[in-house]
Amino acid sequence: MDTAALLDFDKKYIWHPYTSLSRPLPVYPVAGAEGVNIILEDGNRLIDGMASWWSVIHGYNHPELNRAIKEQVDSFSHVMFGGLTHEPAVELCRRLVALTPDGLEKVFLCDSGSISVEVAMKMAIQYWYGLGKAQKKKFLTIRNGYHGDAFHAMSVCDPDSGMHSLYSGVLPQYFFADCPKIPFDSQWDENDIVSFVRLIADNADSLCAVILEPIVQGAGGMRFYHPSYLQAVRKLCNEYDVLLIADEIATGFGRSGKLFACEHAGILPDILCLGKALTGGYMTLAATLVSSEIAAGICREGDGLPGVFMHGPTFMGNALACAVACRSLDLLAESGWQKNVSRIERGLQAGLAPCREVESVQDVRVLGAIGVVEMKKPVDMAALQQKFVARGVWVRPFGKLIYVMPPYIISDMELEILTRAIGAVVAEVQ
Ligand code: PMP
Repeated sequence: MDTAALLDFDKKYIWHPYTSLSRPLPVYPVAGAEGVNIILEDGNRLIDGMASWWSVIHGYNHPELNRAIKEQVDSFSHVMFGGLTHEPAVELCRRLVALTPDGLEKVFLCDSGSISVEVAMKMAIQYWYGLGKAQKKKFLTIRNGYHGDAFHAMSVCDPDSGMHSLYSGVLPQYFFADCPKIPFDSQWDENDIVSFVRLIADNADSLCAVILEPIVQGAGGMRFYHPSYLQAVRKLCNEYDVLLIADEIATGFGRSGKLFACEHAGILPDILCLGKALTGGYMTLAATLVSSEIAAGICREGDGLPGVFMHGPTFMGNALACAVACRSLDLLAESGWQKNVSRIERGLQAGLAPCREVESVQDVRVLGAIGVVEMKKPVDMAALQQKFVARGVWVRPFGKLIYVMPPYIISDMELEILTRAIGAVVAEVQ
């Protein structure tokens, strides 16, 4: 199919993320990708600022990740996980237990971040059910959060950006505390947690869990909040007998400057969701981890208790995904990710600093390998994207946010090209 025909079919028949089929946004046809570059059909090479939505941490077309998949494909690609097991899955779970904070040692593998959130939420409900407290089945979260597009995940996304009113009567109704307002590196103020304290204290009897993105609120606003907020949440969850689910699908594997963002606050969640960078961006795979104690509660047997955890997706434990995830985690350990993430953090700080002087810019913030320029007004995504492509970089703004989280392998020079392009495009926004 020639490129014009491909684009024509795409435009008429295929949905892209968060778009309309009646008024589709432009899409750019990709011919290949290698290292930090996405290569378009017209030969244009774009320095990727998005790491394909947080996932491609080692870069594209990585020889070792390619080899891991090829070796596995020659053995077998997938077998059902019901009643069968295999080395790639076992090796991956072994690595995940070793890598994640001590205390998280039981692993549920599934196919996407949203589903790992669904799994975590079902686990929290079933844990209390197992303990004879079936009334504890509601969730508390914070505004501006994002946890995925499946129904239960959506029910704990920010009610405005998650369009809750559209689904009213279908989405379960949960509790939303005000979002944390004290930035990551500012002076902590207890007032920030007041709304959360009130909600957990008033509703503890019906709450099974708090769910939040630790430190970095991603798709709900790209905000970095104060570690003391997270510490206070952990304390309150203990005090009121409520589980804490940390959604590290975006932050996991070094992105925020720590291997897991919970480490900024030194806290241990009861349930941890991982995804995105887990396979180095090669395949869709996610994991939900819990402590032995929680697993025992979920699987408790007896009068009217199911004993089993009722979830089992067809592609659970997919061998190709597990094999490439194992290699990706090894690469992460071998590559000295901390050095790279600190280097990128410094590059983003320096490179995005000039944006602060631009009239249309509200705020510039950087944490780890995440850089954000928040504009005063929402931007025209398609128009800005075109400008970025013309400057040889791939950045996809949304709302008021122009943000980047490049692959960890990006060089200083490539990072400079990326931040310069952002500076130039931002300067053109009225
Ligand atoms: N939680 C967070 C924090 C996310 O950033 C995302 C994806 N943007 C998800 C959950 C959902 O993951 P997926 O898109 O793989 O379903």
